[in-house]
Order: sequence, then structure tokens, then C-alpha cells
Amino acid sequence: MRTLLSFIFCLGMLAAHAGNPVKDEVTTRDTVQAVVLYGEEILFDAVEGLTDDQVSDLRDSVMKFHGANQLTNYISLYLSLKNKTEEQLNSYIDSLFEAEGLIPYALINQINIYLANKPEEIPIILPKDLFIGTTVEAFPASNFYPEWDVTNPNPYPNSLWASDTALSLLLANNDELGKFHIPVDDVLTSKFGWRDGRMHNGIDIDLQVWDTVVAAFPGVVRVARAYGGYGRVVVIRHYNGLETTYAHLHRFKVKEGERVEGGQLIGLGGSSGHSTGSHLHFEVRFKGVPINPLSFISFEDQALVNDTLVLKRTKNGFAAYPKGILFHTVKRGDTLYDIAKAYGTTTYKIAELNGIRRNGYLSVGQRLRVI
Ligand SMILES: [Zn+2]
Repeated sequence: MRTLLSFIFCLGMLAAHAGNPVKDEVTTRDTVQAVVLYGEEILFDAVEGLTDDQVSDLRDSVMKFHGANQLTNYISLYLSLKNKTEEQLNSYIDSLFEAEGLIPYALINQINIYLANKPEEIPIILPKDLFIGTTVEAFPASNFYPEWDVTNPNPYPNSLWASDTALSLLLANNDELGKFHIPVDDVLTSKFGWRDGRMHNGIDIDLQVWDTVVAAFPGVVRVARAYGGYGRVVVIRHYNGLETTYAHLHRFKVKEGERVEGGQLIGLGGSSGHSTGSHLHFEVRFKGVPINPLSFISFEDQALVNDTLVLKRTKNGFAAYPKGILFHTVKRGDTLYDIAKAYGTTTYKIAELNGIRRNGYLSVGQRLRVI
């Protein structure tokens, strides 16, 4: 896996100037492009849209130039998986875990990636399906939520439906969803996840009192009032059904029910509520379920990792990740350092992406987002 990945990354560097892939005709250059795509995204994205015959041709052409290798095995695997249902694939994974001898984690990982990116099973929710009417009485994503509650930032404790197993939310476009804006341009001081024995449902961004705080996306202000430990808090409902929360504010600059643009000033930073120093506590939730903002926002780039966010239901909420990213399934003896090295990233980044501690315990079979 490591050799293959580094081989692919090298090819990616070489072929970066090779131009656009030509998908309707399988040539040598297409082979290189497909391999490159596998390095940057995943194999299954690269072959999406090709017919079974074209994918077989691709495999033959890789075979001709490089011989049978892990990539040709993956292509064969793809051909055997693509007509199976999610249920069949999950029971296939279960059977691999029960197999005699070595558990084929690389294979399991590839199937998991395939499942995570299987497009036809995760319909994209478009804002036009969620935003009903144009008056202030019809709120964004109102068919996702039982009521419009202005008194409580988190009134939706059990709002997930049985059908909420896998969702794909569009985060940004040129219309209703606009672009993403970082709420405060300062350093992260605390991450999402377990902290001192309790759950930290958001991230903390450092700021000085009176610093400006802006809306991450366009939407309608649902809450703008003081509420318990949050202090002065603004909650915005966005057109894709996500809600963002901005806590410990010093002053409000918006009112409940007000429509806001992405990047619009909504308040001034402070230290109100349960806070030991001035900072912004920022949360992202879907139907009340907290999601790690760092799973789809790159603070380094102050941008979204991808315009589409995939949510997969887990025992405790959602696993959230941008479309087209890579996972590693932890196997016996893996360390975070080894995994980071294998994927050309850092332990710091992996810890951040997964909301885990860098020196924490990894369990065998655990899925880590690596890129
Ligand atoms: Zn916080």
C-alpha cells in the first residue's frame, strides 16, 4: 500500500502538466491519468462514468505497462463490487474480518472507501428542496426540523430520522449557499472532541474582545440571546440544513429572524457565559448533532476542503468528511507516526481531522481519515 501510494504520488507530480483526461477513449495517457487520480482522490472516483468494458481495458493497459500489481487487483475488485448493494458489501466486509489467517485490511479499506463514495446511495440535498417560500415565516430547511425555536440553541435532541443513515450536503455554490467564510481569523485554541472528561461540541478560536465575528454561510438567525454557558450566542440556520453556533459574544450585531449573508458581521467577540478568556466557541450541527468543523474546514487555507460534505450515521452521531478523501483502517502494530508517514501527512493533521489525541490509543479496525 505504501509503495503503491508513493509510486502514485510520484506519477502525480510527473503528470501534473499532462492536461485533461480523455475519458471516452482509453489510451496510455488515460492510464496515467487514472492512476494519478487514484493518488489524489481514489481509484473508484477515477473510473466512475466508465463502462465495465472500458474499466477492463484500463486494467489490461496498466497490466501491459506495469504488470499485475495492487492497482490491477483494485480494478478487478472494483468490477466485482460495483453491482453489489451496500448491505451485501457490508456483509462481505464482516466475512473478511472473520477470515482465517491475516485480515486483509487494505482490501477492507478500499471497500470502505468505495462505500463512502458510492454516489447513487447518497442523494445530494439541494437547497431548493429545503427552502420553502421567501418570507421570514418559512425558514431554511424547515422540512428537516420540527419547529423554529428562538429560545434554545439546541432544541433538537432526537431529531435524526431512520432514513438519516447517509447524507451528502452541498456546502457551497454560487446561489443560496454562497461561499464559506472563516468566522474569526485567528488561531485555534481548542479542538472538537472529548476534553477533561466531557464532550467539547465545537472548536475554540482565539480573539480579542470587540473583534468581529462573521457568519460562515448565508442563512437566517434562529437564536441571538444569552443562554447558559454559551453566554451571548448566535445560532444561524443555513439553507442546506446545517446550523452554526457562535458563543461567548460580547455584543450582538444581528436579530432573531434576520437573514444574513456569508461573511456578514453578526457579533463582536468576548468572554460571556462559561469562558475563562475571550474566544469564539464555534459549533456546526446537523439536526442538532454536533459535527467536527475541522472535518470539512481547512483552517490553514481558510476554506472548505470540498464543496460536498458526507455524513454517515454512527452509534453516537455522524461521521463527517468531505467527498473524495482517503481513509486508513488501523491494523495491528500501526502507529499514528507510521500512518502519517505512509500518506505523506503529519500526526498533527490526522489527529485534527479525526478529533483524536496524537498520543492516544488506536484500535485495530478503526477508520482514520488521512487526507
Ligand atoms: Zn469551546
